[in-house]
Amino acid sequence: MMKLVFPNACLSCREDLDLGILCNSCQNKLEKTSLQNRIEEIHFPEFIDEAYVCWWYNDALQDVIHKMKYSDRARIGSELGRLAGEIMGHTIGHLDYLTAVPLHHVKKRDRGYNQALWIGKGFAKTVKIPMDPSILKRKTHTVSQTTLDREERLQNMENAFVSSRPLKGLKIGIIDDVLTTGATMSACAKALKDKGAAQVTAITLGTPIINL
Ligand SMILES: [Zn+2]
Repeated sequence: MMKLVFPNACLSCREDLDLGILCNSCQNKLEKTSLQNRIEEIHFPEFIDEAYVCWWYNDALQDVIHKMKYSDRARIGSELGRLAGEIMGHTIGHLDYLTAVPLHHVKKRDRGYNQALWIGKGFAKTVKIPMDPSILKRKTHTVSQTTLDREERLQNMENAFVSSRPLKGLKIGIIDDVLTTGATMSACAKALKDKGAAQVTAITLGTPIINL
């Protein structure tokens, strides 16, 4: 039998794979959360109504997210979005629109493009909720979050995003790869609420937050 010219392989163990990014065995290493609303566990929950996370941020998820950031973002991102959508579809079925956390244009240029957008595209297609990336835009250049303390982080982020269209009464889900402090999500949610969004839901692939 002729060997394929570009064989597909599992991202993690490199085993031959017909479709997708992870073989069954490696996919099973992704540890699903119980899909409850985790809003109480976020440091900065302001403006966010609900927070849903698909998997715990274990070594397997970290490995896949790392690979997505440095290669093949479109394929890995949309496939991770699809897998998450299959798991989370029922949980977020009440939403009217999905959007993604935007990258600043400088970062976007440096890193190719926004992986949250690709995750969102795969996710939206699977859960059959329209995705509109233009709902959210990053407004100002923000300095690196890692050098700031908690208060400075929130201040820096709080006005970083803007929404350019009316969202009165709409329930909107914002997609990102990992949920940590919630500061970025909170700032995005603020921009949506400023335009009249009735409810904002944070949706991420993973979180390192452990049950309190
Ligand atoms: Zn594998």
